[in-house]
Amino acid sequence: MPAAFPLFLTLSGQTVLIVGGGELALRKARLVAGAGGDGRGARLVVVAPEVHPDLGVLAAEVRRRPFAAHDLDGVTLVFAAGEGEDEAAQVADLARARGLLVNVPDRPALSTFIMPAIVDRGPVTVAISTGGTSPVLARRLRARVEAALEPGLGRLATFLDGFRTAVRTVKSDETARRRFWERVIDGPIAQRFLAGDEAGAHEQLVKSLNAGDAAGDAAEGGAVALVGAGPGDPDLLTLRALRVLQNADVVVHDKLVDDRILDYVRRDARRVYVGKSKSCHTVSQDEINALLVREAQAGHRVVRLKGGDPFIFGRGGEEMAVLRAAGVAVELVPGITAAVGCAAATGIPLTHRGLAQGITLVTAHGAAHGGQGDGSPSEPVIDWTALARLDHTLAIYMGLSKASLVADRLIAAGKAPGTPVAVIENGTRPDQTLIVGSLDRLGALAAGLTGPALILVGEVVTLADPAKVATDILTTLPVPGRDADIPPGTGFKAAV
Ligand code: SAH
Repeated sequence: MPAAFPLFLTLSGQTVLIVGGGELALRKARLVAGAGGDGRGARLVVVAPEVHPDLGVLAAEVRRRPFAAHDLDGVTLVFAAGEGEDEAAQVADLARARGLLVNVPDRPALSTFIMPAIVDRGPVTVAISTGGTSPVLARRLRARVEAALEPGLGRLATFLDGFRTAVRTVKSDETARRRFWERVIDGPIAQRFLAGDEAGAHEQLVKSLNAGDAAGDAAEGGAVALVGAGPGDPDLLTLRALRVLQNADVVVHDKLVDDRILDYVRRDARRVYVGKSKSCHTVSQDEINALLVREAQAGHRVVRLKGGDPFIFGRGGEEMAVLRAAGVAVELVPGITAAVGCAAATGIPLTHRGLAQGITLVTAHGAAHGGQGDGSPSEPVIDWTALARLDHTLAIYMGLSKASLVADRLIAAGKAPGTPVAVIENGTRPDQTLIVGSLDRLGALAAGLTGPALILVGEVVTLADPAKVATDILTTLPVPGRDADIPPGTGFKAAV
């Protein structure tokens, strides 16, 4: 079968005949009813001995009887969507003989047109056809296009339409006009609109239009999206993160962001690595803040890409405050935080009836070996007693190098030494390692690990997916005197 010729029909004021009164007919009627082209729908006529009540509501006219040839008089388009196969073939023959457009669902040989799979972002419509070869493939493609197109795209089209006259007046030259629209659509104005700030986008568009071409980019001002990249697995990016990444001019990213995620960045976008690791600060936070402001003010669409969620131990709040103070538009795109990603990847429910009524996210960063309450100004006050008392799962971030300290503090504050713990290194990544043991051995369990690792403390750890558990040191190892008795890596390691 040759590929079908794509076109969009304006059906307003035209008569569309639907032969058939059941579910199939109703589905076609719904599609037609929404597609006038200018707001006025098509005139829908239904002919069938029995008609679904909803069809009666959509149709301008219902003829409750079998199809007759004269039903085709004055008709533009026909759906033969009834039950009987013979009737459908007869309707199709008669319609074709009159030169009418006719569709028989699932029978391309009888049809003069086929129905595409549709992505509807009214007034923007994407129609997909596989030339009738594989309706399932068409539906899968539709799902991909659905995912790639912002939900607000239709509203954006309407918003842009509202400025067409003004833009034509200010920019008489066609090339200048096209360039202006490209800048608006690819740039911060559309980004802002799609992020939900319609008033801001409006204001910025007017400003940009009045500023004239030369100042165009600068007047628009850039925007920064603080984007959570999740714990590693690119599949855990949100759809919005993906879209924002693909639109970015500049991507400022951390060490924690997986290379496979950076593959989604546009080829011609600039990437700036500002990775920080515990001991060596490549770029200071002040420098990062200044960089974001500078790039945005130069008119660029900037993505600040962070591991996990930007607002969870990610300094996203600080960057947002600096950008706001500088008058730069900021959008926040949440990500899956390490605790949530690691929990899913190991089958450990963070809350579970009877085992944990809550989950507490804490950072061990800054906890020093001076000991709590020793007056040391360098140790932030972590209320270990409160943490130990909570009948909660504890998710400890940045705890690897402080693992034995954390265990000592929690046990001293009353947590049972035998409390199950899990250390998850490189969670959700191909090299994920899961180590399970008890709180009193946490230091040894964590020793030797180098990747980003999350510590989970609590009874829920006993629910870890057995398929990912090679050995359970809770039951197989002799009870040690202390951490030091256990050589590093003795806990079971289960790669996924
Ligand atoms: N904003 C991030 C956390 C940044 S702090 C988030 O929401 O996840 C860095 C700490 O996060 C690491 O020290 C580690 O404890 C944790 N972490 C980040 N990615 C991780 C991963 N893939 N596996 C295990 N822990 C991870």
